[in-house]
Amino acid sequence: MIFFDDIPFHEKEKARILQALKDGRNSHAQLFYGAPGNGKLAVALAYISALLCQQPTERGACGACPSCRQMMKLSHPDVQFVFPTYSSKEEGKTGLSEEFIAEWREVVNENIYLNHEDWIAKLNAEKRNMEIRVSDAKAINDNLSFKSFYAGYKVVLIWLPEFLGIATANKLLKNIEEPESKTLIMMVSEQVHSLMPTITSRLQSVHFPRLSKEEVKNELKARNIDGADVIAELVEGNLNDALNLTHKSESLSQLAVYFTRWMRICYSVNMPEIIKIGEEVHKEGRVFAVAFLRFCLQTIRQTVLSKYKPSVENPLFQRTDFKMVNFAKIINPENAHKLLGEIDEAISDIQRYGSIKMVITDLSIRVHYLLKRGEIPEAFNVF
Ligand SMILES: [Zn+2]
Repeated sequence: MIFFDDIPFHEKEKARILQALKDGRNSHAQLFYGAPGNGKLAVALAYISALLCQQPTERGACGACPSCRQMMKLSHPDVQFVFPTYSSKEEGKTGLSEEFIAEWREVVNENIYLNHEDWIAKLNAEKRNMEIRVSDAKAINDNLSFKSFYAGYKVVLIWLPEFLGIATANKLLKNIEEPESKTLIMMVSEQVHSLMPTITSRLQSVHFPRLSKEEVKNELKARNIDGADVIAELVEGNLNDALNLTHKSESLSQLAVYFTRWMRICYSVNMPEIIKIGEEVHKEGRVFAVAFLRFCLQTIRQTVLSKYKPSVENPLFQRTDFKMVNFAKIINPENAHKLLGEIDEAISDIQRYGSIKMVITDLSIRVHYLLKRGEIPEAFNVF
């Protein structure tokens, strides 16, 4: 991903960046930040490619010079990639980014919209302490003090600087405050609020907004992915979540199967089944769990609307015996309103890293009360 024109989003930001390149206004320390699952890393790579290109055009990198060809492989002698890693004596890893560069190239090539969870999953490092370590700060300082290979810029791309340890950040400050000439430190962050203000205040920042539903839908359609409309509704502008959902090809029809089963066991308050479904959704992971609950929101809303105007059955329900007319008999505007509120809250809990299993189990009982009685007993809310 080295061409601005290959990135179908962020037109405004790209135009500003291209203008700055043209005017030679290249700040030596920059921060691209914004919502997960948007195109900030892609734009950062396009920007670095353009900056290093030997024959750049009005639209950025040429794509043909030796520098561009090396950028395409994420293997350029003047670019250092730094990202969170772990250290492990058994595996002989000290935690330097360089030790993990092959894996990083692989995931970024697979999916430029990835987030930290995909990276951690790639390394099977769920139980590891992921960090950008002091040794990397030292490697950056050493690297920037050497001459560049092509006599142009030397660039350090720090992906996910929210993982910078304090000591690492402090060590980097000198380079940010008193840069060598023709150097660029580019940080690409998902959680800018976790960055130290001493760092962010010294960076020139560009905010990349969340993608729109329309943008996600169009990108999925461009990739010939079935059910683009449904998926775009479920991911709130997070293209990475959308792609992760489609990678499990069964996921989408599974949403409808789960929904049908879940509503049934909530209604009859079948505890062993409730616990079981909680465990199953838990295993599918956070992205799926959130998509599942958003799918529930969608279906409940559609059911309420179906009372006022005839609606088409969602094709995802084809493999189930779900009938909206029947479901509509236990849904009314009041309990629907409360159900939507409870499910919304459960989504936030899961996004804040609550236990999926526990959130789904608790929610199931709330849903039971709302379907059967239209309200949740006071006593239940105490717990
Ligand atoms: Zn070039």
